[in-house]
Amino acid sequence: MGSILKKRIYLSPPHMSGMEKEFIARAFDENWVAPLGPNVDAFEQELANYVKTKAAVALSSGTAAIHLALRLLNVGRGDSVFCSTLTFVASANPILYQGAKPVFIDSEPESWNMSKEALKKAFLDAKKKNKLPKAVIVVNLYGQSADMDEILNICSEFYVPVIEDAAESLGATYKGRASGTLGKFGIYSFNGNKIITTSGGGMLVSDDEEAIARARFLAAQARDRALHYQHSKMGYNYRMSNILAGIGRAQLRVLEDRINARRTVFNRYVEAFSDVEGFEFMPEAHYGRATRWLTALTVDENLCGISAADIINALADENIEARPVWKPMHAQPLFEECDYYPHQEDFSVSDYLFKKGLCLPSGSNLTKEDQNRVIECIKNLVAKVKS
Ligand SMILES: *Cc1c(COP(=O)(O)O)cnc(C)c1O
Repeated sequence: MGSILKKRIYLSPPHMSGMEKEFIARAFDENWVAPLGPNVDAFEQELANYVKTKAAVALSSGTAAIHLALRLLNVGRGDSVFCSTLTFVASANPILYQGAKPVFIDSEPESWNMSKEALKKAFLDAKKKNKLPKAVIVVNLYGQSADMDEILNICSEFYVPVIEDAAESLGATYKGRASGTLGKFGIYSFNGNKIITTSGGGMLVSDDEEAIARARFLAAQARDRALHYQHSKMGYNYRMSNILAGIGRAQLRVLEDRINARRTVFNRYVEAFSDVEGFEFMPEAHYGRATRWLTALTVDENLCGISAADIINALADENIEARPVWKPMHAQPLFEECDYYPHQEDFSVSDYLFKKGLCLPSGSNLTKEDQNRVIECIKNLVAKVKS
C-alpha cells in the first residue's frame, strides 16, 4: 500500500552530469542538428582513446553495431553464429537479420559469462559436422568481462573471429585492458539504462581501421564516392546524430565516477545482506574490474524462505523496480529451434541463474535513503517468513 505516494525507484535510470546541456547548446548554436558533425567525430575519438582502440564509429544503437559487425564478417544465409545464451535479445537478433542461425552457449558459474567448456563442446560438434560458425558473439554481462583470453584461444584454434558485446560492460577491465577491445570487434550501447547514455546510441570499435571505415560507409546508406547519389552496396541508416553525440561526450567525462558509484551501491547491498542466508551475489572474477552496472544475485528459497519473485513483487508494491536475470535465449520461443550447449551435460548454469536470480536498483544516482528503502523492504520480507 501507499505505493501511489512513494517515489518510484528505477532499476537503472539515466544520470546526467549537467554538462550535456552545454554540448547540446553548442550544437544548436552552430546549427549542427543533423546526423554526423563535430560532436560525432569527437565522441568517436574520445571513446577510442578511453578504451584504447584504433578506430570507432558512432551508431544509432548497440544493436546496429552488432549487425554491422556481422555484416563485416560476411555472415549470411545458412551460416551459424555462436552466441552467449544469457543476455538481452539484442545480442542475437542481428544474427537473424543476416539470415543466419544462432547456436547458444551457456554461462559458467565463476563470471556468469560464456562457459569455455560449453564453447569447446560446440566447436567440436560443429567441426564434426563440418559446419563451423562464421563468428562468436561473447556477451559481457552486467558490467563484467567474460574470460576473454581463454575464449579467444578456443576460437582462434578454429580461426573464428569474436565480436564482444560490451553493451553492459563499458568501463570494465580484463587483465588491465578495456572490456570490448579484446575481440575482432567490440560494441557498446548508450541506451537510456546503460552506465552512460546518449538516450539511445551505440559504438562499434576495432583495431582494424579499414573495417571501421567500411562500417561507417555501410551505416550511411553505402553512398559511393560520386557527385550524384550512387549506390553499389546495400547500406543502412545507422549513424548517430550530432546532438546525441554531444550528450555522449559529456557522459564519457564522468564515466569513472559512474563506475565508482555503481560499485558503491553494490557494496552497500552486500554489506546489508551479509547475514542473510541464501543470498549469493554475482562474483567478480579474478581477472578484472567489474563496473557492477547492475547488482545481480541469486536467492535460494530453501535457505531464506523467499524466492527472487517474492522479492521483486514486494519491491513492486513499494514502487521499486527490480527485475529477474535475463531469460536465456535458448529458452525463448523465438529461438525454439536453435541448438544449445549447457555448461555441463546435466547442469545449465543460465537456467539456474534465471530461475533464482534478480537485479536490484543499481543507478549511479541512487541515493543512500532510496537504497535503504530497497534494503528495508527486503529485510522485512526475510524477517516475516523467519517469524
Ligand atoms: C542494451 C544491450 C544491447 C543493445 O543495445 P541497444 O543500444 O539498446 O541497441 C545489446 N546487448 C546487450 C547485452 C545489452 O544489454
